Amino acid sequence: MSVSGGRTRVGRYDLGRTLGEGTFAKVKFARNVDSGENVAIKILDKEKVLKHKMIAQIKREISTMKLIRHPNVIRMHEVMASKTKVYIVMDLVTGGELFDKIASRGRLKEDDARKYFQQLINAVDYCHSRGVYHRDLKPENLLLDANGILKVSDFGLSALSQQVREDGLLHTTCGTPNYVAPEVISNKGYDGAKADLWSCGVILFILMAGYLPFEDSNLMPLYKKIFKADFSCPSWFSTSARKLIKKILDPNPSTRITIADLINNEWFKKGYQPPRFET
Ligand code: ADP
Ligand code: MG
Repeated sequence: MSVSGGRTRVGRYDLGRTLGEGTFAKVKFARNVDSGENVAIKILDKEKVLKHKMIAQIKREISTMKLIRHPNVIRMHEVMASKTKVYIVMDLVTGGELFDKIASRGRLKEDDARKYFQQLINAVDYCHSRGVYHRDLKPENLLLDANGILKVSDFGLSALSQQVREDGLLHTTCGTPNYVAPEVISNKGYDGAKADLWSCGVILFILMAGYLPFEDSNLMPLYKKIFKADFSCPSWFSTSARKLIKKILDPNPSTRITIADLINNEWFKKGYQPPRFET
């Protein structure tokens, strides 16, 4: 890292304003000084990353992510490290968080919610097929590009989100485990694909309802609700949407619907457009 003319430079990138702050990182706007390309750079504290000796796993996942090109996944370009920080260079997206849309406009119409959900499932299914799990899917990690296309961020950083969970940070200032599958909470070893699908189910519920399916200001009662899948769909949900959400938010991962079956579900398939890949 160097500072010249008031600008901070990392590798071939000039750092600009902060775009957002997440649970374990800061994300800044940056510009490639050679190509002029605008990117986003996620800056992580090395100390935190190293603490659990997870650097090897993170490196492995990042190298996989660099190979992934999917229209609904934020692409990673490269990773750099200084003595104290790790910099993850990725596509810049400018449409904001999907969550802000719900916060400002309230719930979405079922057809609109379905469109985002289909894009989310496309991204998740694709990454799973490449052996990459998210483990921290939540609306804050769902960004929109300038055309309103959904882009999932933080794929491949699952080791980090796991660490955050172990550190207990998720339970304090940074949010609550509202999106986490029951088997992840009970920490008995779990299937990453099934756990991600649960989180997708919670996200679908929020998009259509405008509020969380499981909520409680105290952690233990919240866990209890999640373990029992104690939620009810609001009156405006269609019957087929209700049925599908019940199948996704099944607390038993072995009977929970699989992504393969979900993709063939009538409600899901309506108006479905398979992802278009840029090559
Ligand atoms: P964390 O996982 O630590 O929560 P995120 O990756 O979610 O961090 O980033 C935090 C915030 O930064 C996001 O909610 C978003 O507002 C912004 N952000 C993240 N990635 C990008 C990106 N590629 N382009 C534009 N903004 C981004
Ligand atoms: Mg995030």
